[in-house]
Amino acid sequence: MIQAPRGTFDILPESAQQRKLAEAEADRILGAAGYRRIETPTFEATELFARGVGEATDIVQKEMYTFDDGGGRSLTLRPEITAPVCRAYLEHGMHKLAQPVKLWYLSSCFRAEAPQRGRYRQFWQFGAEAIGSEAPETDAELIVLLAELLEAVSVKRTRLRLSSLGTPATRADYREELTAFLHTHESELAEDVRDRIDLNPMRAFDSGDAGTQAVMRDAPKLLDRLHPDDAEHFEVVRALLDDAGLRYELDPTLVRGLDYYTRTVFEFTSDELGAQSGVGGGGRYDGLIELLDGPPTPASGWAAGVERMLLAARELPPAPELVDLFVALAKRDGSRTAFELALEARRAGLQAQLELAGRSLKGQLKHADRIGARYVAIIGDNGVATLKDMESGEQHDTGVQDVIPEILRAERMR
Ligand code: ATP
Ligand code: MG
Repeated sequence: MIQAPRGTFDILPESAQQRKLAEAEADRILGAAGYRRIETPTFEATELFARGVGEATDIVQKEMYTFDDGGGRSLTLRPEITAPVCRAYLEHGMHKLAQPVKLWYLSSCFRAEAPQRGRYRQFWQFGAEAIGSEAPETDAELIVLLAELLEAVSVKRTRLRLSSLGTPATRADYREELTAFLHTHESELAEDVRDRIDLNPMRAFDSGDAGTQAVMRDAPKLLDRLHPDDAEHFEVVRALLDDAGLRYELDPTLVRGLDYYTRTVFEFTSDELGAQSGVGGGGRYDGLIELLDGPPTPASGWAAGVERMLLAARELPPAPELVDLFVALAKRDGSRTAFELALEARRAGLQAQLELAGRSLKGQLKHADRIGARYVAIIGDNGVATLKDMESGEQHDTGVQDVIPEILRAERMR
């Protein structure tokens, strides 16, 4: 039997309900702050991600679904949506609109990763991007909006980690300083850290080794090396989050690998999740639009994984199906009348279904009960129907043309 490809899943009606609610919350929360929905194509020119995510990243190195379109052009299923949104911003001349342009999305992403709980090859992301403002208020607002979305979707036991990366130049200087520091302490470091000093000095901060940890307590921190403008920007972001009552941990080891990231970075995790604890994160990417051949344009944003949000969320009771009217048949030959009555009922604003499976009358009533129908109309002979109130059990005969007015009248009285 053919199965869904590894790392993908079906969204069945039962789980569609919870997603619909999450989407409605995002629409409400982000809409109230002036973010408007955008939808970009499922695939883009490979070049967009090579530049916009970065050649050196894991995503571009090994996680992209890339294919030839048959005409010699290389296309890629979007692994993320920030670069596509920036492409759309430039392509549609949105820099001429009032800035910042605030956009949000809910779309699927594709990454060729080893599938496990919370990690899929096709997954969905909520995201918000504010393009064209360097104000620290933009960063703080984005962080608060994601916190509110996680709260609204009942994501449990969340934590926020926050840091600032300064500018690429500050980071390059800092990297040199940290590398030199590690080399002077080589003999006290764990072997795996020592081996990677020049490749990835930041890794030393995450080491579980006691000797390494002791060394790292005195290591220089990027946050202490920020340029005064960047430090002040970060101070304002922090003050605004404090005012908003949002708790965070300062984490100077928080990195977002890419060169064009600047200033604020943050990540929400949930202790409900195991190894894949990252629910959503983002930060400021003042260098990205320029990298895509646009004018220098400050920007900030985040993306959050829908599946991880729902894995970490309180479960909702399944929403009952709403059926106002089930149209049943006393005899086969009433089917045209039944079909028409169901159509009319829907036009009148009722949720109506009709018998489609050739059940006996007893079977039809049992089915109507199972789907929670409020009323059943049994089509009989000569334009007569038996209208049954499934709640009280009361039933009476009436004209087929009177079924809908009677239901509407009864519902108005309730
Ligand atoms: P991870 O640490 O899991 O590798 P990431 O740093 O690759 O995450 P981002 O690129 O920042 O993640 O994407 C934002 C969010 O998208 C993540 O916080 C996570 O919730 C979700 N996400 C990322 N990759 C996957 C995946 N393969 N399957 C499901 N959700 C994912
Ligand atoms: Mg990843």
